[in-house]
Amino acid sequence: MTRLFKNFIGGEWVGGDTAADNINPSNTDDVVGTYVRASRTDAQLAIDSAKAAFANWSKSNPQTRHDVLKKVADEILSRKAELGELLAREEGKTLPEAVGEVARAGQIFAFFSGEALRQSGEKLASVRAGVEVDITREPLGVIGVITPWNFPIAIPAWKIAPALCYGNTVVFKPAELVTGSAWALAEILSRSGLPAGVFNLVMGHGRDVGQTLLDHRDVTALTFTGSVATGMRVAQACVQRMAKFQLEMGGKNPLVVLDDANLSSAVENAVNGAFYSTGQRCTASSRLIVTAGVYDEFVAALVDRTKALVVDDALKAGSHIGPVVDAAQLEQNQSYLRIAQDEGATLLWGGERMMRDTPGFYMAPAIFTDCTNRMRVCQEEVFGPIVSVIRVSDYEEALAVANDTPFGLAAGICTTSLKYANHFKQHAEAGMVMVNLPTAGVDYHVPFGGRKGSSYGPREQGRYAAEFFTSTKTAYVLP
Ligand code: ADP
Repeated sequence: MTRLFKNFIGGEWVGGDTAADNINPSNTDDVVGTYVRASRTDAQLAIDSAKAAFANWSKSNPQTRHDVLKKVADEILSRKAELGELLAREEGKTLPEAVGEVARAGQIFAFFSGEALRQSGEKLASVRAGVEVDITREPLGVIGVITPWNFPIAIPAWKIAPALCYGNTVVFKPAELVTGSAWALAEILSRSGLPAGVFNLVMGHGRDVGQTLLDHRDVTALTFTGSVATGMRVAQACVQRMAKFQLEMGGKNPLVVLDDANLSSAVENAVNGAFYSTGQRCTASSRLIVTAGVYDEFVAALVDRTKALVVDDALKAGSHIGPVVDAAQLEQNQSYLRIAQDEGATLLWGGERMMRDTPGFYMAPAIFTDCTNRMRVCQEEVFGPIVSVIRVSDYEEALAVANDTPFGLAAGICTTSLKYANHFKQHAEAGMVMVNLPTAGVDYHVPFGGRKGSSYGPREQGRYAAEFFTSTKTAYVLP
């Protein structure tokens, strides 16, 4: 009998009518566990519990909040090897990447444990004689947290930790594919000293459990990371009832490589950004925009470096790239291979399905050349190990192509020119700019987020998280 992992509602572990197996994408014969699927009624109960718990938690002592978040941080960090293995097994990123992600989740909880003790306001002079003005921040209420599968613990951490830090209560709905890490995080939170109802886990489908969070008037605010299509639904539902919301969605992130770049580091940045984590990162470099003088040399070096990547079981030592997360994503990747070739791109390397010792969703990283930026593969987010190389004549054209996208999450440039690096930093239409670094890979104490179709609402992470998770109050007092 496999163990049945339950939802956590109102301080209790509760079952449900249905459950689903969590399957290892490196080996589809391996069942990670069986996880209860919440119903709409479960989601409503979780919302009721979070609402009831808000009255006390919103008034809780900063020391209490600090201690809870620090305890969670310490446990995550001390168990990072075990939790990393679980994460790699259910999601398919390699073990070192997965352990790194778990450590990141611990760091985020540690950061917000400190922030709990640093909550402050402002006092300003009034323009009216004798009047005092002060500005304070207050928690919002019940926060609905809806997360995707590609960062099964870091994204939940960067939403749940600030939500709790600033005095909110939480109903967390993780992605269906990665219930293992979500449940493990919930289990740690369940022993952290939080009063019943402050944190609730409802594993289930987006279309019912997620939708209940969107539509319920007692969910004060929604923080969402996922696809553009679902992000639009979140936005529409929240606007209907004037709920606050924050969206992190796709990217079509450019990495510009100029003639004067250090070639080997540019290739490393490209390979890392395009293919690590199987290209399943919203900050992945999916468009490589290369100036003509270095184009041929860069493409040859990129192919050589890509050939050396080992695609295999996420848990195997020596794997650089694990499997694609599931059959549907693999099919989507394969369909983009056809779409790109139909539009005239050349598949220079990779793309084929690969067989390994175990049945899994393995795919060779793919490089397209002869791409124009108007091709669908250069405009739409694929979310797989597929990169398009676009030849441009000079920096000005590179910048124009980099910005010619509906997205604006991250943008990178490889150059030894201070002039171009500075110009790009100022003119890239993205929330995050990387110079001589991969477009993916960020710090946790500074804002994360994008522009245009990538993001909506205040930034996540660091102190900027307070913008979303609190509401300011301006008080005028005539003593
Ligand atoms: P991804 O491609 O990352 O799976 P999705 O947008 O499909 O992106 O999923 C992100 C999260 O949104 C998941 O937790 C999913 O269950 C949830 N979700 C999907 N549909 C809805 C919906 N109608 N309402 C609320 N949440 C949803």
